[in-house]
Amino acid sequence: MTALPFDLPAELGVVELSWPTRVVLGPGALARLPAHLARLGVSRPLVVTDAGVVKAGLAARLDAVLQGAGIGAARFEDVQPNPTDRDAAEGLAAYRDGGCDGLVAIGGGSSIDAAKLVQLLTTHPPPLSRYDDAAGGDRFIRDDLPPLVAIPTTAGTGSEVGRSGVAILPDTGRKTVIFSPFLMPRVAICDPELTVDLPAKLTAATGMDAFTHGLEAYLATGFHPLADAVGLDAVRRAARSLPVAVREPRNLHARTDMMIAAMEGAMAFQKGLGACHALAHALTPIAGLHHGLANAVVLPAVVAFNRAAAGPRLAQIAQAMGADPRSGEAALAEGAADRVRALAAEVGIPARLRDAGVREQDLPRIAAKAFEDASHRTNPRPCTEGDLLEIARAAY
Ligand SMILES: [Zn+2]
Repeated sequence: MTALPFDLPAELGVVELSWPTRVVLGPGALARLPAHLARLGVSRPLVVTDAGVVKAGLAARLDAVLQGAGIGAARFEDVQPNPTDRDAAEGLAAYRDGGCDGLVAIGGGSSIDAAKLVQLLTTHPPPLSRYDDAAGGDRFIRDDLPPLVAIPTTAGTGSEVGRSGVAILPDTGRKTVIFSPFLMPRVAICDPELTVDLPAKLTAATGMDAFTHGLEAYLATGFHPLADAVGLDAVRRAARSLPVAVREPRNLHARTDMMIAAMEGAMAFQKGLGACHALAHALTPIAGLHHGLANAVVLPAVVAFNRAAAGPRLAQIAQAMGADPRSGEAALAEGAADRVRALAAEVGIPARLRDAGVREQDLPRIAAKAFEDASHRTNPRPCTEGDLLEIARAAY
């Protein structure tokens, strides 16, 4: 019998796979918003956003589109960088006071996530901790939520096609994931023109987050060939277009490619992530690093750590990043960490955690918190707390 390729499990089983978001993609896509609101039966949306999006003039552009179509909207524009139950409660009050029948989230992952939490509370009783995915809370979430349209203004988290909202909750004391297919936006409007004014640093950090989602999902344990295919494609697109988007912020081809990479990364990581995200989830609260930046600095060390367990897949990653396939699988896998390091350097990411302001004495605490994070459980090479500390030290 012909030998199975490496990405099929030896024991074939039954899997259930899904990812069905409707996506409106391209320069000027924002203009299609009124038509989609009409199609969804939304006549008075709550616009959920944050101060940065308002300051950048993007909320005003959204207003102009809504006003042009004669749609009156209510506003909640105080979403915090890492949303909490307060954002959800205040957003809910704005939704009720405004007599709303749907939601439009415009912004990065925080605004879109906050909108999902508000959306949930419109028909589900608090507290949000009741729906904590880690405690099986998804079973309480019903399919009776008002429609949500997501309009990303970064190319990073991919929350516009994701089915989870993340919030720091007082009664869990941590970043809590609320997860249900019903939280998936009904439409994602991905207009690259909304990302051209993003500062280079944020373009780089958010773009490296998308790249990391694709890479970690592709390497993650478990069988999900659809996630693998789009995860690898996210790696390919981000590797070729992120440096261009950083160098030429108004290059709409590069910006469009990055919006695709961001969606693909998020579609792929429902398969799982890895040690890099476990460490990033600890670096943000302890050392104050931006999520994408934390991933970008740690990723080369994680790739090197995974070399022993994921050679064939790392060779595919290297090829997706432009390596010559004729160099052979072992050499390709061996060079993957350097390629990732070079990409991060090219877009201006600091080389080491110490350069990003992390204190050496915090590394053990970061490793301990990372070990508590579920992301590393799908890392291709199992890691102990000691391994995570070694990776953090290597990145330091
Ligand atoms: Zn991420």
